[in-house]
Amino acid sequence: MTQTLTIALTKGRILKETLPLLAEAGIEPVEDIDKSRKLVFETSREHVRLLVLRGADVPTYVQFGAADMGISGKDTLMENGADGLYEPLDLGIARCRLMTAAIKGAEPRQRRLRVATKYVNIAKQYYAARGQQADIIKLYGAMELAPIMHLADEIVDIVDTGNTLRANGLEPREHIADISSRLIVNKASMKMKHVLIQSVIDAIEQAVDAKGNAS
Ligand code: AMP
Repeated sequence: MTQTLTIALTKGRILKETLPLLAEAGIEPVEDIDKSRKLVFETSREHVRLLVLRGADVPTYVQFGAADMGISGKDTLMENGADGLYEPLDLGIARCRLMTAAIKGAEPRQRRLRVATKYVNIAKQYYAARGQQADIIKLYGAMELAPIMHLADEIVDIVDTGNTLRANGLEPREHIADISSRLIVNKASMKMKHVLIQSVIDAIEQAVDAKGNAS
């Protein structure tokens, strides 16, 4: 029986950096993902199809085997946990840092901190490991606003250039983790479709190496 392979991709910034890597690995969507409202795309490689999802949903699809493989930010994997997944490859794309940030010049608080973030699990672990008591407030976007409006003393967020923080009068404080996108594979798929999946991993690894050597 012919095996099919489903790869779940994260839309947005990560997708823009993912597509050239996949093309280099011989996997190209047959239509322009940006110009389509579809969510499933056939590719130039027979029996390989792509799903385009919100970032936080990619590990879920792969964990449950609804997709065999996926490309996900390390921040999402850290936040959601990685049960049932292999993480065979660091793609080295969409690099950024997960950091705490606060109002520029504000004194660090000794009392219980209020921290706003969409990374609730990461933040809980981070402050607990430092022995710092913290109330974590879940937000879904615009974290920078929370300290300005006195909703929180600090935020935990992704920082790339730092421009977003600076534009809002904030400054980065503590570095929590370096982030980049990772290839993830469902553990059962890895067993059942080993030859096919390994060939795709190898092709993507070569594309990553070629890009590394070129830059
Ligand atoms: P910057 O102003 O360059 O520090 O970018 C900060 C904002 O861009 C963050 O609040 C994120 O929402 C987003 N961002 C930057 N890099 C990434 C990335 N690699 N993955 C996801 N979001 C990112």
